[in-house]
Amino acid sequence: MREKFRQFMAGRYGTDALNQFLSIAAVVLILLSLVTRLGLFSWLGLAALIYCYFRTFSRNISRRTEENYRFYSFQERLMGKWKGVKRRWADRKTYRYYRCPKCRQLLRVPKGRGRIEISCPRCGTQFIKKS
Ligand SMILES: [Zn+2]
Repeated sequence: MREKFRQFMAGRYGTDALNQFLSIAAVVLILLSLVTRLGLFSWLGLAALIYCYFRTFSRNISRRTEENYRFYSFQERLMGKWKGVKRRWADRKTYRYYRCPKCRQLLRVPKGRGRIEISCPRCGTQFIKKS
């Protein structure tokens, strides 16, 4: 039996971080559908599960590897955003955040200094804001 399974899996992709995420998401969605009694969640959970199995047994390994890389970079971007939100929340009393009108760079200025001229360190644009 084990040998058969090994033969079956030969040349197939197997599991990765994205599949782990998908299987957890499927369980969470199905639990949600049980709690909320919304059919939508169970369909989404089923879709996640099917996609997970499809990826595990796929023979197109380079394509699946690429998907996993994209998943990693998406996860990193999300974590970066979350860190930014956390930091802004932590120093909301002492700093104000503005975006440069030209290059959209996020700038942090100390609060309570009245109207100040801010110059963007990235592109050099100057603009006036209340701090
Ligand atoms: Zn700028």
